[in-house]
Amino acid sequence: MSKDTKNCWYAAGLHFECMQCGNCCSGPDQGYIWVAGSEIRLIAQFLNITTHELKKKFLRRVGFRRTIIEQAGSNDCIFLRKTEQGKTCEIYPVRPSQCRSWPFWPGNLSRPDDWNMTAKKCPGINRGSKYDFEQIRTIKNSPPWWKNETQ
Ligand code: SF4
Ligand code: SF4
Repeated sequence: MSKDTKNCWYAAGLHFECMQCGNCCSGPDQGYIWVAGSEIRLIAQFLNITTHELKKKFLRRVGFRRTIIEQAGSNDCIFLRKTEQGKTCEIYPVRPSQCRSWPFWPGNLSRPDDWNMTAKKCPGINRGSKYDFEQIRTIKNSPPWWKNETQ
């Protein structure tokens, strides 16, 4: 274990197991679910629509980037669906990298307080499977998921 690793507050690992509550995909606040060009193409393919239709119906532009729109009133992600089992993502197999790396985002991992504040909205934090330091670092620094896909 390197000195940096030993000094990191989560050197001993962290616990996380998704409870499928959908909070991280929900309002009430407006948020950003960034999607890159390759992700847009794969989501459109998955939904069997053109990228033009996807952009028009489900994305909005913010500066040079695009984000998935939210449902009117609730500010839930437009792709979040309520089912009898809980809340699920309609585009789960092709969800953006931002969604895949939750909750191991740099901002959530800065300090224990940040992690525990995040746990207030994500009940999967601090329970279930243990992620060791290397796993957390890999997820935190992971390149966009589509780069590992054969296309
Ligand atoms: S808030 Fe946490 S527990 Fe709930 S769906 Fe998101 S990751 Fe899973
Ligand atoms: S794309 Fe799917 S995983 Fe990402 S915020 Fe929307 S519903 Fe949640």
